Amino acid sequence: MKTKRIHNFNAGPAALPLEVLEEVQETFLNFSGSGMSITEISHRSKWFEDVINDAVARTQRLLNLNDRYHVLFIQGGASLQFCMIPMNFLKDGESADYVNTGTWSTKAIKEAKILGKKFNVVASSEDDGFSYIPKNIPFNADAVFCHITSNNTIKGTQWERFPDTGKALLIADMSSDIMSRRFDVNPFGLIYAGAQKNIGPAGVCMVIVRKDMLEKVPGNLPSMLKYTTYAESNSLYNTPPCFSVYVIQLVLKWLEEKIGGLAKMEAINQKKAKLLYDVLDAGGFYRGTARPGSRSMMNVTFRLPSEDLEARFVKEALENDLGGLKGHRSVGGCRASIYNATGIDGIEALVDFMKVFEKKNG
Ligand SMILES: *Cc1c(COP(=O)(O)O)cnc(C)c1O
Repeated sequence: MKTKRIHNFNAGPAALPLEVLEEVQETFLNFSGSGMSITEISHRSKWFEDVINDAVARTQRLLNLNDRYHVLFIQGGASLQFCMIPMNFLKDGESADYVNTGTWSTKAIKEAKILGKKFNVVASSEDDGFSYIPKNIPFNADAVFCHITSNNTIKGTQWERFPDTGKALLIADMSSDIMSRRFDVNPFGLIYAGAQKNIGPAGVCMVIVRKDMLEKVPGNLPSMLKYTTYAESNSLYNTPPCFSVYVIQLVLKWLEEKIGGLAKMEAINQKKAKLLYDVLDAGGFYRGTARPGSRSMMNVTFRLPSEDLEARFVKEALENDLGGLKGHRSVGGCRASIYNATGIDGIEALVDFMKVFEKKNG
């Protein structure tokens, strides 16, 4: 019997491609002829080494990285990166720029502050509920790096184009939009992404770091908090989250071989997002919360005329096999997270449901 699956609009952990889940299932009891599962073999075995090396190689190809970048896998989620970045890259007397575009940026800034580092918040969209991405930002010429959140998972905004920061290298939290579109890696000193939004299961954060940034890492940091530790050991200084890395490898294989790369993925994601934003823009029943020009291709946030209708919308959607549409607990409303693994068929089913719901309640 076919297992029942619903259209999954969860924000994270989020949908994974069905082909990937099926491959995990097929290979689970006997991984690559080992007679063991991936969760039972040594992280120092040839089997796992092939997995992690393939994940790195696919990342390099998909993002068009050049050999100036390391690809690392670090535990602690994106949230650990909030403190590792200032610890590793900001010496006494040096300063960084931060742009505050929502909850996750705010949390990144909080960690720099706890560490007593020097930094400037050079722009913020807090004045309008983080509903937009700031423009014409006065970056500081002497900033060591400039930290941005490329996609704001909770507020549903996204940088359409990355800002020109002058000499300062960009550092971006791409947790909720990595591998969703093409971009030029060259202005970036570091990119990080918690896996559980767009590339795999929870438990690991992908970190892409420019090799020359590692020269800044102070010697007196604990080993587990230094990027050099991971770079020098191919992320195998201690036991990595082997299963999560394995699923990431399969997701990247799916992206390359089934989807056909990031240009194709980007086109599909644009089409998906347009279908939903067209509904939000059509009537007065649904109201998008992110300003046009700053709208996310990954997290579509919207309100209905009342909180009561929103609660019924989420409930009735689930009865129609459309799950995960409740907005983040900090903002309320509704949110459809439409990461890479959510197919056009899911979006079409949601659009149909939204139209019927509006007709009944509008
Ligand atoms: C989910 C999310 C985080 C937090 O990730 P954890 O892996 O739970 O630490 C950070 N930044 C963004 C943009 C996110 O979407």
